Amino acid sequence: MKNIVLFGPPGAGKGTQSALLVDEFALVHLSTGDIFRRNIREATELGRWAKSFMDQGQLVPDDVTIAMLKDEWTKHPDAAGFIFDGFPRTSAQAAALDEILADAGTGVTAMIGLEVDDEELVTRLLARGATSGRADDANEDVIRQRLAVYTRETAPVQSYYEAQGKYRGLNGVGSIESITDELRSLIQSL
Ligand code: AMP
Repeated sequence: MKNIVLFGPPGAGKGTQSALLVDEFALVHLSTGDIFRRNIREATELGRWAKSFMDQGQLVPDDVTIAMLKDEWTKHPDAAGFIFDGFPRTSAQAAALDEILADAGTGVTAMIGLEVDDEELVTRLLARGATSGRADDANEDVIRQRLAVYTRETAPVQSYYEAQGKYRGLNGVGSIESITDELRSLIQSL
C-alpha cells in the first residue's frame, strides 16, 4: 500500500499534481481543502463553520479536521493507497495520521514536498483567485496570512517525517508536465 503525503505551501501545485497522478497509480486523492469546500457548497453545518476559518486564512481546528479525514479515509477500505493533499498540516494531525494508518496495519510511505518560494506562490494564488471563485485566493492579505500560518504551523511537519527518513523534496517550479514526470518517477521508486 502506498500512502503518500503530498506536502507544500498553498499554491505549490499539490491539487493539480494529485489529480494528474491518482488514476495512474490507482490511488485515492484525499484533500481536506476539497472536502471542506464540498461542505461549503452543500451548506452543511461543518461547511458553514469551517468557512469562517478558511476565509481568514486560518487552519480549521485539529479535532474536527482529523475526525473528518478519518471519516473519509474509512470510506475506501479497498484502496491501493492514498495521496493525502493538504493533510497533515500540524504536528497533531501528523501524529493522528500515523495512528489511523497504524491501526490499519500500514503507515505513511513518504512525504513528497513541492518546494516553491513565497513570491511565486503569491503570484500563482492571485492568478488562481481570478478564476477559481475561492475567497481565500482573492485577497493578497489572506494569501500572506495563509503563508505565515504555513511557516508557523505546517512547515514543522516536514521535520516530523525527516526524522523518520521519509521526506523527499522536489523543486515545485517549472512546467506542470516536468513536475508530474519527476513525481511519477519518485512515486514509482517508493
Ligand atoms: P487548501 O485547499 O488545502 O489550500 O485548504 C484551504 C483551507 O482549508 C485552508 O487554508 C484551511 O483553512 C482549511 N484546511 C484545509 N486542510 C486543512 C487541514 N489539514 N487542517 C486545517 N485546516 C485545513
